[in-house]
Amino acid sequence: SKVPPIILNNGVEMPQLGFGVWQVPDDEAETAVATALEAGYRSIDTAAIYGNEEGTGKAIARSGVPREDLFVTTKLWNSDQGYDATLRAFDASVSKLGLDYVDLYLIHWPTPERGLYVDTYKAFEKLHADGRIRAIGVSNFLPEHLERLIAETSVVPAVNQIELHPHLQQHAAREYHAEQGIATEAWSPLGQGKGLLEVPAIVAIAQKHGRTPAQVVLRWHIQLGNVVIPKSVTPSRIEENIDVFGFSLDAEDLAAISALNEDRRLGPDPAEFNGA
Ligand code: NAD
Repeated sequence: SKVPPIILNNGVEMPQLGFGVWQVPDDEAETAVATALEAGYRSIDTAAIYGNEEGTGKAIARSGVPREDLFVTTKLWNSDQGYDATLRAFDASVSKLGLDYVDLYLIHWPTPERGLYVDTYKAFEKLHADGRIRAIGVSNFLPEHLERLIAETSVVPAVNQIELHPHLQQHAAREYHAEQGIATEAWSPLGQGKGLLEVPAIVAIAQKHGRTPAQVVLRWHIQLGNVVIPKSVTPSRIEENIDVFGFSLDAEDLAAISALNEDRRLGPDPAEFNGA
């Protein structure tokens, strides 16, 4: 495979780079995911709330890639939190995806005001024990939410998927995850492509290596040990974003990118977000 794996805390292998499909409409997801699978991606990151599990599933079915070579992630939406609601939402997701099991299932947001993420996670543990999910984890959890989850449940989450890019480097979260054996997965790894890819320091490093700014940012994540799931619907960019294993950033490049941290979120603050 083009993408090396990382080993999760339960021994399951997860490709370090995958394909994200947020904001890809269901009828375009089939083409986008098919393009990604042809380009060599084997990990796909979707969510119930993205509304494109069906299109994603169609592309998977059509691709002919053996199921065991794929790593499919989906996420439980906030309004489905709670033990019984989670079991129902999981059935709906796997049915839309056309799969018997998913590789990784994530609680999309902690929504702490609801007070349901522990019960929700207990349903994840049941689905995991039943062999319907290979690894269970969370998304947008702050260390305080993880601490409570670890204290009150039995399976340490394999992954926490959080907003992470050079303008929001998440040092404290990454350190806490490393201590607990939780893999850090970066969402919006390219900073949603907005200003980040025009930052002069990144453009200069790209020129130095004969690479694009997007490749430099993805390579930075890879060298830090983050799992990344860049999104694009443009075939040339889909190919470019997976082609980041044939060059390395040096210490000077890494230091220049580390200096870009602004602790600036593009998305909501997980302590407050209770999106329905
Ligand atoms: P991203 O950082 O992957 O940026 C994607 C955008 O960057 C594209 O729409 C395009 O405009 C641009 N882009 C992509 N490749 C490029 C290239 N090679 N050159 C120039 N521009 C390029 O942003 P994202 O989609 O927000 O995040 C990636 C994935 O993370 C999502 O698709 C989704 O799967 C996941 N995600 C999860 C959460 C969560 O709450 N768990 C939230 C947001 C995103």
